[in-house]
Amino acid sequence: MDGKLDVIAEKVRTCQKCDLCQTRTNAVPGKGNLNAEIILVGEAPGRSEDKRGEPFVGSAGKRLNEILLDAGINRDDVYITNIVKCRPPNNRVPAKNEEESCLDYINEEISIISPKIVCIMGNTAFNTLLGGKEITKNHGNFIEKDGRTYFVTYHPAATIYNQKLIAELKADFKKLSKFLGDNDEEKQCEERRCDFCMAKTKHEVVVIPKIVTKKRRWLYKCTECKHERWLIPYRTVAEGLY
Ligand code: URA
Ligand code: SF4
Repeated sequence: MDGKLDVIAEKVRTCQKCDLCQTRTNAVPGKGNLNAEIILVGEAPGRSEDKRGEPFVGSAGKRLNEILLDAGINRDDVYITNIVKCRPPNNRVPAKNEEESCLDYINEEISIISPKIVCIMGNTAFNTLLGGKEITKNHGNFIEKDGRTYFVTYHPAATIYNQKLIAELKADFKKLSKFLGDNDEEKQCEERRCDFCMAKTKHEVVVIPKIVTKKRRWLYKCTECKHERWLIPYRTVAEGLY
């Protein structure tokens, strides 16, 4: 983790800005990769999160893991946080004043990480960050606001009570993953000689970024002879030489 995120995490752990500090076991700061291209935003910690002090480690977290795996997104590559960092008693929906007291933290997290996408999961995050309502009508949409791109989807916990939503949530995350993949492709696609029979041919190699985050695992594919290989892009190797 980065220093600035550590500072926020420490502020959250000792925060007493709203009454939820009196009933929490542990405050739950956001967790994840400083270089994340995605920030996932839930509602508030539940029982397991309150015990462990980490976001999305209970049943909603398990469901989230499944969904990420299905979309080809690595949990270690994203940053996960909540609108409210302390558990509301009995998992009630956070009150407006609690959301407002906690809002500075999420705004700081977003501005430090500056991700490509802020993925809003569920009505609380939708309402707090975008003033939106009715996730059912808006899920799967990208929304631009103040120079940031947001993506709206269901809260993973909603699929625990309504199994029919699993397919929709999975489809949404695949759309998100594809959006990031396509963006990368535009920037990073390059054509070069075939790595596999370079001496003899001028075959072109298409570089296909296969994951959605900054970890560069790219598939090199020769358009002529169809050779394929996972490689570190040569630019990264070359940069390392200087
Ligand atoms: N639900 C949330 O919104 N956040 C968590 O961290 C866990 C469950
Ligand atoms: Fe502070 Fe947020 Fe916890 Fe309230 S919910 S005590 S504002 S960290």
